[in-house]
Amino acid sequence: MANVIGLAVRRPGVDGDTGGGREDRVGPLHAVEGTAGRAAAARSAEVQALCGAWVRVVAVEDVPDDTGLCEACQYGS
Ligand SMILES: [Zn+2]
Repeated sequence: MANVIGLAVRRPGVDGDTGGGREDRVGPLHAVEGTAGRAAAARSAEVQALCGAWVRVVAVEDVPDDTGLCEACQYGS
């Protein structure tokens, strides 16, 4: 099954100072194995990307065109 795309979730107070309390999705994009990614998306859960980062699956149409894929996901395995 084709991979899906995920974005890392930045947690205020955990991943640094973002200046706001909202949950920000931050680039780069990560590739997630298709079956696991779709299951996580159905539960609105986070899933581990190919490179090991925890991400939230997003629809391709929600991804900005200039957002790059993380190098580990792009070139790994
Ligand atoms: Zn990655």
